[in-house]
This record gives sequence, structure tokens and C-alpha cells, in this order.
Amino acid sequence: MNLMYQSTRSNSEPITASQAILKGLADDGGLYIPVTVPKFEVPLSRLGKMTYQETAYEVMKLFFTDFTEEELKNCINRAYDEKFDTKEIAPLVKADGAFYLELFHGATIAFKDMALSILPHLLTTAAKKNQVKDEIVILTATSGDTGKAALAGFADVEGTKIIVFYPKDGVSPIQEKQMVTQKGDNTFVIGIRGNFDDAQNGVKAMFNNKQLAADLKAKGYQFSSANSINIGRLVPQIVYYIYAYGRLVENGEVKAGEKINVVVPTGNFGNILAAYYAKTMGLPVNKLICASNENKVLFDFFQTGIYNRNRDFILTSSPSMDILISSNLERLIYQVADRDADRNLAMMKSLSTKGEYAITDEMKANMADFVGGYASEKETAETIKKLYELTGYVIDTHTAVAASVYKNYTRQTADDHKSIIASTASPYKFTRSVMNAIDGSYDSKTDFQLVDELSKLSNTAVPQAIEEIRSADVLHNTVCDKDKMQETVEKILR
Ligand SMILES: *Cc1c(COP(=O)(O)O)cnc(C)c1O
Repeated sequence: MNLMYQSTRSNSEPITASQAILKGLADDGGLYIPVTVPKFEVPLSRLGKMTYQETAYEVMKLFFTDFTEEELKNCINRAYDEKFDTKEIAPLVKADGAFYLELFHGATIAFKDMALSILPHLLTTAAKKNQVKDEIVILTATSGDTGKAALAGFADVEGTKIIVFYPKDGVSPIQEKQMVTQKGDNTFVIGIRGNFDDAQNGVKAMFNNKQLAADLKAKGYQFSSANSINIGRLVPQIVYYIYAYGRLVENGEVKAGEKINVVVPTGNFGNILAAYYAKTMGLPVNKLICASNENKVLFDFFQTGIYNRNRDFILTSSPSMDILISSNLERLIYQVADRDADRNLAMMKSLSTKGEYAITDEMKANMADFVGGYASEKETAETIKKLYELTGYVIDTHTAVAASVYKNYTRQTADDHKSIIASTASPYKFTRSVMNAIDGSYDSKTDFQLVDELSKLSNTAVPQAIEEIRSADVLHNTVCDKDKMQETVEKILR
């Protein structure tokens, strides 16, 4: 019996995992969700003996039931290989009493690699299973990080092309260099004269253009998206929470069955939702601590039961969490509304028309596993500095938001469960903010000078991902006007 997937917005016919991966978003605008969350079958006491790849298989086989064992293992082995700079894939580091789960050892040194290194393989396998003969064209607009992680994941994956649009003057120099030096015959990177919203709108318009879809179909192409709402990105993120628990048991830090807290720096609510699924599968989790930066929509939501995006958008030093609409939250809302698609749809409609919705007290009670917290820019910087001074361990700005929220939480509650903090980016990815937090006098140095300073100060080697771009050749130099995006795509797919 296959585990089937249903939209959060209507009771339309459930579809298989491979179909849900291919579709990404449901036709009614909803997100795909499994009809039940399966229970993890391996005893917790055995977890610690399993490799990352073995754990990944045990999790994914429960969700992607229409994939064969061979297909899944193939996807896993191609994703979690030497692209990661450690065999552990996601190592756990103990510092100042907490356990930092380092999710940044992949190709682009941020946690998006955990899912985007496997998504291309899941997608091409799903295409084969469903007799899709067209070449899959991934279209993405990026404000920096997702674009590079998607490029790295899809580069040279047979049967795919990837086209990434970014705002020419709207990403950091390191982010731009990372993208324009991307290798792979099937990769295309285009700067647009416009901002991120222009890029995003241009991509959306292409996805909604039926004539374009028909023209491309005739040439053997079909569009797909690598968006974070794809179930093929969510499920691979469950793996590392279960894997980390195994490491804790193996190292004698917890007894099998002992509950832990999980703290996650949150933007789109994908990463923490994966932790929630891990708990639902049977992982002994006490609290799921949702950490926001100054864009604290989620903190307010957990506090009041009202989700309200009508507020100023704040640019912070943790840009990957600068988000006012956390798309993946919809999956939790649907769940706590007793899987009632109509109720969920009404709230999502209210979000798009009024910019807000309210949940009932009963729904709020169903979310008691979650605790919301947030950190100001000042607290975030202080957390980086203090942890460095105390332990020598340097964390990035996103991770620091979580570490700060964790500190406040333990101070206020005296909750002494062992805690895992999701460490979502290497400090080398946000070097300037990190070094400024430690010592303001670094401000006048260039980005690469700061990289070398960070290496000395933290006593860690500069990651390959950064070394590479110092000297790498620029391979992409296409720039287009914001209203010429479709023309540019048509030229590529001639
Ligand atoms: C994307 C991202 C986040 C936020 O993750 P969500 O799944 O969107 O909540 C946090 N930190 C970093 C470094 C990221 O790239």
C-alpha cells in the first residue's frame, strides 16, 4: 500500500509521492501532505550505529513508498557523497552545554544543501516512474542562497536544465561570485536589471504562461520548481534530526527514549516542520523552539494565535530568515485544524486578502509542542561574541539567532532537557557580520581578507566552497532587463 499525498486546500484525489514531487504545488494552490505520518521503525538504541545514508533510507522509504529500494538508495548515494566535506554529513558539536547540529558541510556551506543535493535525483527518478519523457527545466528566482544550492544540486544531472535569475545589484559579492562561477553544461545564471521581487514575478509569470508551456512541450521541455514547499525537500530534512539523536545516544549524552529539545532558526518554516515530523514519527522531542530574527511574525503568532504579515520588512544580518510569509506553516495549520481543508483554505485566503488570520484556542492548544522566540540584532551579535570568547567556537548569524533564543528560553523556564540547535550556515558564508560581531575593527577589510582572519581566529580551514571562488573563472555573464526574462529563457531552450 502506497502512502498517498493530499492537498492542504481541497479534498481532491490523493496522489503518490513521486507525483507530488513532480508537481511541487497542488493545482488548488495547496501544499502536499502525507495522509498519515508514518512511525519510525528502527529502535532508538540502534540508531547510533547507522550512517547518515542508512538513516536517510530508513526515513525516506516510509514517505516515498512508490520508489523501489534500489531507486531510493541510488538517490541517497548520489546526494550524500564527497560533495560533503565530512563523512558524517551532519556532525554534532557540543559547545557551552548545547549541541550544534552542523548542516553546512555540503557544496554551498548552508543547510539548503541537505535537501537540494537529493531533490534533483528524486525528481528525475519520479519523472521516469511517471513516464515523463520531457527534459525538466528548473526555473528559480533567488535572493542569494537558494539559487546557488539549486545550481550545485542540479549541475550535470542528466535530463535536467536549471535557469537561475538573480537581481544583478541585489546580492552580496560572494553570493554573486558563487553563482556566476557555477560549472555544468546544463546550468544558466542570469542577472536581471531589477530587484528580487521583479525576478520572482518574472519566474511566476513564466510558470503561469500556458502558451509558453505548450511551445516548450513541443520542444521536449517542461518546467519544474525547486521551491522549499516541495515534499521532496521537506522529507530529506527529517533525516538529520533522527540521525543527530542517534549520535547523542551513541555518545552517552542521552539514554534511548530520553526527550530532547530542538531549536531551529526559522524563515519559511521548512526546517522546523521537518523536526515536527520527526517528533510525530516517534523521535523523543520535548519542545520545538522556533527562533525568529527581528522579522518576528512567527513569534507573535505563537504568542497570540494571530498571524499578521502587515508590518515593515526588516533587513537583518540573517537574511535567509527575512521572511514575512512562512509558506510551510500552512502544513502545520492544516494539521492543527484537524486536517480540515476548508478551514485551512479560509485562513490562507484571509492571509492573501487581509494579510492576516487568526486560529482558534483549540488549534493553539494543538500546537503546544512549539515555543516561539526571537532575537534582536544586538542579541544575535552578542551571542556570537560570547560563545567565541567562552569556547572558541564560531557560529553564523542565523545559528546565533537560535542560540540566543535558546539561552533566553532556558533562563526563563529552567527546562534542562538536552538541546540540539540547528546550525544552518557556515560562519564563512556570512563572514562580515560574524567578524563584526566579534570585533568591530574588522570593518575596513575586504571579504576575502575577512575569510582569512576568520580562519585564524576560529582555527578552522577555509571551506572548499570559499577557496574555489577566490580564483574561479566567471562562466556566466548574461544580464537582461526585467521584462526580457522570457525571451532569455526561450533563447536558452531553442
Ligand atoms: C533557508 C535558511 C533558513 C531558514 O530555513 P526555513 O526552512 O526557511 O525555515 C535559516 N538559515 C539559513 C542559513 C538558511 O539558508
